[in-house]
Amino acid sequence: MPELPEVETVRRGLEPAMVGARFSRVTLRRPDLRFPFPTRFAARLEGRTVTALTRRAKYLTAALDSGETLIMHLGMSGRFDVALPDGRNLSPGDFYLEGAQGTPKHDHVVMAMSSGATVTYNDARRFGFMDLVPSAGLEACRHFAKMGVEPLDGLTGSVIAGLFRGKVTPLKAALLDQRLIAGLGNIYVCEALHRARLHPEALAGSLAKPDGRPTAGANALARAVVAVLTEAVEAGGSTLRDYARTDGSAGGFQHAFRVYDRFGLVCSRAGCGGTITRVVQAGRSTFFCETCQPRPGDPGPARPAGRQFRHKSA
Ligand SMILES: [Zn+2]
Repeated sequence: MPELPEVETVRRGLEPAMVGARFSRVTLRRPDLRFPFPTRFAARLEGRTVTALTRRAKYLTAALDSGETLIMHLGMSGRFDVALPDGRNLSPGDFYLEGAQGTPKHDHVVMAMSSGATVTYNDARRFGFMDLVPSAGLEACRHFAKMGVEPLDGLTGSVIAGLFRGKVTPLKAALLDQRLIAGLGNIYVCEALHRARLHPEALAGSLAKPDGRPTAGANALARAVVAVLTEAVEAGGSTLRDYARTDGSAGGFQHAFRVYDRFGLVCSRAGCGGTITRVVQAGRSTFFCETCQPRPGDPGPARPAGRQFRHKSA
């Protein structure tokens, strides 16, 4: 499933083809994706100019000069191909999905832009969707009304403490709750908890002190969430600089994961020596290191003096 960094990479890949350009022709190859397309969808797009392409959590939002905003969600398997007028092709976001390939029979929406680019939406499983909503009051539309804070927009330990205070749900469940923090998925939650050295089954409320201020763990978690997302966005962005690439041959970002999908392997934290374990929480696999993410109340292995205050983590 595309996560936030992939959606941001897709946004950056679509931006030069779409922003400032008009929809010359929009072709729908079927009546629906996850939901039916809005009424007169193609007609409401054609002739309209995209004034900005932004992202809210894992949703792409294209503001139109008609006063409407096109909302696009990739679902489980959605992807965009951009055919540029000079013959080059770009599949922004494929970088994250090793071996991902779209087949033409799943090309459901074809958008010819006045920039000369053709933007094609491909979705094998059709869990993605597109919607058109009024731009005024966008934050209150049904997709965003109950959505939590944007993690790359000033997330701090204080914000986390405020959101998690009093919560007796496991930390991992709280991080996946889109009403608290929007856009975090399983992979980056596992990675962030490892970097912050927090046990995924610790209680979310434990990150707030009795007076509501953030614990050191809350501050570490905020830094870790921002760091893992930022690094992943930068890794995807670096692939966009080479628009000539057509096959996603840069390889997947999963090579940079420290715990996700690394069950049984040695922890990558220098000097840790622990083994990555796996538990299932709410039906999803959680990967973590029991050595450097000890269960609350468990002092963990004794660390040599001088090591525990080292700030630099490998
Ligand atoms: Zn470890």
